[in-house]
Amino acid sequence: MTPKSPMESRRMGQTGQRSEASGMTALSTLHNDPTELLNALEQLEVGLCHYDRNGRLTSWNRHFLDLYTELDPNAIAGRTLEEIISADAVLDRWVTDPATECAETWLERRLSRHRDPGAPVLIHDRSDRWIEITEFRTAGGGLLSLHRDITEAKAQRKHAEDQTMLLRATLDSMDQAIAVFDMRMTLRVWNARLLELFEFPEHLIRVGTPVSELVDFMLARGDFVERDREIVLNEAIEYLRLERSMISNHKLASGRILEYTFTPMVNGDVIMAVTDVTLTETARQGLAESEERYALSAAGSNDGLWDWDLRREKIYLSPRWREMLGLAQEDVSDNPAEWFSRIHPDDVARVTKQIDAHLAGTLPHFECEFRVRHADGTYLWMLTRGLAVRGEDGGAHRFAGSQTDITGRKRAEQQLVHDALHDALTGLPNRTLFLDLVRKALARLRREPDTRFAVAFLDLDRFKIVNESLGHVHGDDLIVATARRFENALRESDTVARLGGDEFAILLEEIESKDEATRLSESLHQSLASPFRLGGKEIFVSASLGVAHSDQGYERPEDILRDAELAMYRAKERGKAQSIAFDSEMRVWPVTPLDLDSDLRRALERDEMRLHYQPIINIRRGKIAGFEALLRWFHAERGEISPIEFIPVAEETGSIFPLSQWVLRTAARQITEWNTARATSDELEISVNLSGRQFARPDAVSGIIDCLEGVGLPAHLLKIEITESTLMEDVDRSTEMLDRLKAANIKICVDDFGTGYSSLSYLHTFPIDTLKIDKSFIQDMSSNYQNLEIVRTITMLGQNLRLDVIAEGVETPDQLGQLRALDCHYAQGFLFSKPLSAADMTAFLAEDKSW
Ligand code: C2E
Ligand code: CA
Ligand code: CA
Repeated sequence: MTPKSPMESRRMGQTGQRSEASGMTALSTLHNDPTELLNALEQLEVGLCHYDRNGRLTSWNRHFLDLYTELDPNAIAGRTLEEIISADAVLDRWVTDPATECAETWLERRLSRHRDPGAPVLIHDRSDRWIEITEFRTAGGGLLSLHRDITEAKAQRKHAEDQTMLLRATLDSMDQAIAVFDMRMTLRVWNARLLELFEFPEHLIRVGTPVSELVDFMLARGDFVERDREIVLNEAIEYLRLERSMISNHKLASGRILEYTFTPMVNGDVIMAVTDVTLTETARQGLAESEERYALSAAGSNDGLWDWDLRREKIYLSPRWREMLGLAQEDVSDNPAEWFSRIHPDDVARVTKQIDAHLAGTLPHFECEFRVRHADGTYLWMLTRGLAVRGEDGGAHRFAGSQTDITGRKRAEQQLVHDALHDALTGLPNRTLFLDLVRKALARLRREPDTRFAVAFLDLDRFKIVNESLGHVHGDDLIVATARRFENALRESDTVARLGGDEFAILLEEIESKDEATRLSESLHQSLASPFRLGGKEIFVSASLGVAHSDQGYERPEDILRDAELAMYRAKERGKAQSIAFDSEMRVWPVTPLDLDSDLRRALERDEMRLHYQPIINIRRGKIAGFEALLRWFHAERGEISPIEFIPVAEETGSIFPLSQWVLRTAARQITEWNTARATSDELEISVNLSGRQFARPDAVSGIIDCLEGVGLPAHLLKIEITESTLMEDVDRSTEMLDRLKAANIKICVDDFGTGYSSLSYLHTFPIDTLKIDKSFIQDMSSNYQNLEIVRTITMLGQNLRLDVIAEGVETPDQLGQLRALDCHYAQGFLFSKPLSAADMTAFLAEDKSW
């Protein structure tokens, strides 16, 4: 068929059989002498065709026919698109799968009368090709149509996208923080752990952030000192430019210890990988002492020696070296490969890497700890150190060193790491380990978004009351027994952790649905259904449980745990033995108080609270030195309620805060009044009890200082009593809080001393003024020789550490006599006076008694 166009027709190219038959017109409007251009178009690797103003195909180039081999060049000229694709052969191949992209609408629109060209369209044809078609109106009112096969390009893009996604998922699930910097030391790539580990604000972490900005941020936070900044920004970067890799350790202001590895790439990029080594490093520091001892013995004859001739590939291993591994002379050859074959498979790569780095000159010494197989098949931990001997060209030809058995130390280290991660009482994972496991679960979730897990926060109901009535020892037994029941109630894959006190956290992994989590919480409640037998009594315990599910887009393990805790408070509100799943609105609305709590809050308004005062006696002088303020609740209906009963409730629900403020203010006013009245003698001190919950508040200290200033009481007359167990709950936090109290010149007394689990070493770290020996030791001091010894020891300890010691609960003259003999400085108890109201105590003071 010949082109129908009446216009001048011209062939697009001189070559190719198909183009012989193809005609081309209308393009002449594009150029005055279009021959050149037309030739070029014919060569184009783009299919090109033209329809006239009536939608009839006038011309095409060779590549167009290459693309659509089913078209018969002799049959298409002068046809409309509709006519062309309705031919069977064409239809079979050309009509696109309507499920993909916008091909169908394109065809419809194109076939409609307007035939408006639009944006490029993608056509997916039946032979799985992707063709991109772009159309333009030409000046003559025709349509120019460009066809490109982009199947390959599309596949490549898809591949690249998949690769990127995989890389992202891998990066984000890594335990290490990763950052890639380019030649100008600006940030290019990073993973989620980078933000988490350094707690960088999100706005700081973007493509193009200069390293100096990150360093400055850390500098401001106290993670670097000014001098380090110079080292990092100048020297280290210079070093990296030399394409040397670098490993270094660094301690953040938060106390975390990080290990950095910098690896320069050939393209000038630097990859930084950061591992949190706090746990192992802390454990190692704890062993500094035994390390010293080890260093001494290492100098002796205990080490094995080795000497490796690098040129001849022969190694000498000393008799002691062989003996350490239970090997006879004939068991080992002089082939270095033999040594490597004894190294634990998990350690080989690390060892070789270090050796290579040393031999290449990037590491000044070779020093590596790894496992080596003993003749009996077990592995021993060896510390191997060595030094290369270099020739004039700097190349190493000999490499020699020693091997020390550090298996014992490693075991102790592992024990320390284990202890650092487990609760001593129950042996369960502690908070640190738990959060780590949750972090791994979150990372897994990023990799496998279809899975789910849940975190449950569990708190025993009214445990503080049970604990008081049972005594601490049985309280501990109860915690252990509940822990075991929880473990038995759960699946192998779940983790129970003890967060402290009566709080547990549970990681429910790989659950199918929310219902499964509900079933598991139900089994936890069930596990407490039967009573515990403790101290000859049957005790019933229940727990409140909050559950947070992983599908809420959590990034940090702390967040999911916090939400589970919030849900637990909601469960407590509903009464005993309840479970509630976290709901995002709980984050917005504060937890509403319990009934008892509102009773407690009303107690202040209704003026039901009273403060009683019990004198503290300076035994050496026989005179009153100060008072302890003790809270009393005269409930309108129930009469007097003991603080042992209501303080734990107030602690659980938060009403302890207004109460404590009130106690502090009232006590400060009272002691000021007494001191002003007694212008003669020494000023009296006032001791006020601080609850555990309150002590945990970051604003606790400023609250106390504000109150002192409000009343006008000099800080040195206030003594804060904190129980030993509260102090030991979180040693770091306690140190910080006590330091701040101390800085404000407020005195600190450790209450109930001897009943907690404090190790004596903390007495050096905490800035304490006074130890108050728990009354249980004083009370049977006369009959129980062991207790007398305890009191004696604490008294002596106090004298050595220059701490005041108060004996609490002194009821008999005998006890006072013994305390005098031990030269205990202060005493408190019914023998001198019961706690009295302010009015009664004013009268008592007026008697001006001596003891
Ligand atoms: P604590 O701080 O160990 O207070 C000493 C307790 O021993 C007081 O009991 C006191 O009345 C009692 N006691 C004093 N001398 C003797 C004695 O010779 N023999 C015997 N058997 N007991 C004696 P209380 O007043 O019932 O207070 C109990 C606990 O309630 C206190 O123990 C303290 O932990 C808490 N508490 C009292 N007031 C407050 C307060 O204002 N704030 C806070 N957070 N806790 C308070
Ligand atoms: Ca006290
Ligand atoms: Ca006490």
